[in-house]
Amino acid sequence: MHLHEYQAKELFRTFDIPVPEGRVIRKRSELSPIIDELGLPLVVKAQVLAGGRGKGGGVRLVQTADEANDATTAILGMELVTAQTGGQGKTVHSVLVEQGLNIARELYLSLLIDRDRAEIVIITSLDGGMAIEEVAASTPERIIRIRINPLIGLQGYHLRQLAFGLKLSSQLGKEMATLVRKLYRLFVECDCSQLEINPLVVTTEEQLSAVDAKVEIDSSSLYRHPELAALQDPDDQDPLEAEARDIGLNYIRLEGTIGTIVNGAGLAMATMDLIKQAGAEPANFLDVGGGASSEMIEKGFRILLSDQQVTGIFINIFGGILRCDVLARGVVKAAQKTGLNLPVIVRMEGTNVDEGRRILTESGLALTTVSTLNDAAHELAALRDLR
Ligand code: GDP
Ligand code: MN
Repeated sequence: MHLHEYQAKELFRTFDIPVPEGRVIRKRSELSPIIDELGLPLVVKAQVLAGGRGKGGGVRLVQTADEANDATTAILGMELVTAQTGGQGKTVHSVLVEQGLNIARELYLSLLIDRDRAEIVIITSLDGGMAIEEVAASTPERIIRIRINPLIGLQGYHLRQLAFGLKLSSQLGKEMATLVRKLYRLFVECDCSQLEINPLVVTTEEQLSAVDAKVEIDSSSLYRHPELAALQDPDDQDPLEAEARDIGLNYIRLEGTIGTIVNGAGLAMATMDLIKQAGAEPANFLDVGGGASSEMIEKGFRILLSDQQVTGIFINIFGGILRCDVLARGVVKAAQKTGLNLPVIVRMEGTNVDEGRRILTESGLALTTVSTLNDAAHELAALRDLR
């Protein structure tokens, strides 16, 4: 889950990490008291969940109240297109109005997880700012990587390596060490998967300040961070995934055309492999859980049927705790209620399978029932060419 810049900066404040003073507004009429409060110059910044806003015209430094008004009028409501938004752009619903700083240097600082090595990595550079991608491409030696074993944690030598690499004075080096300690704590405590400050500026008054802030929280950890989960931007979620989560289904939307309903994550993975091997593409991952009820199956069905990409459905259930007769009733009920008109392949094995098959056959619905994965693959290959 991504945080907006203003939300990330709020979070920084609670960890005592220096950020410029600022206010978020959603209407231009809210601007003038903020000019009085913060003074000039100001920076007006589009709040969209994408980087590269500066280059796309979404960040403006303004010197007068008139300029602040013009910038806010221009940015609020615009469709901001940046290198990261895709051609259509993102609508700007709010802007962050911040005190403009006198910037002496722009540094780059980020923390992320190296999954292969199971380490946290700090990436930093002397050349922060809007051209960081170019720096990485053309002068990679100017990017410093510091690897941290999470069991050992952040140590003094990491911080010295950082201050030395960034050629900071001893005073600024100490400030940087304090800042990075706090950031590291935030990263771990909030279950971040990525955190980036670009630029981290040194002001002409020799102060550090996080002028930009990007924070990504591991969505799987949100159950233990209700205060962060509440910050989720509904526009940033897949509507079907959000609906599935609300009703307690493990659903992830994919790009293919074969909708799947499976019990158990391992079987769901194997099912997706099977679909691919049959030359088709799964439209989703959906684990209805070992103890799923017929209501859960019905809900799963509804989600799949609201995906316009889906041209066929493959139900693969091993009846253990979820008995095959319960599944079959769920499928029949869901098919009748939703007026199902897509081909459905059901592969069932396990407890009460005969009873389950009988229910499916007697329903009169056009379902294809198979008992082995091999047969399922053949049927899937036939669905593949449907459009
Ligand atoms: P991004 O383009 O989406 O990464 O947005 P940023 O928040 O990084 O802003 C883009 C650029 O605007 C920064 O790299 C800075 O150079 C500039 N900028 C942002 N805030 C200030 C400020 O307070 N004073 C000055 N002089 N420049 C600023
Ligand atoms: Mn930036």
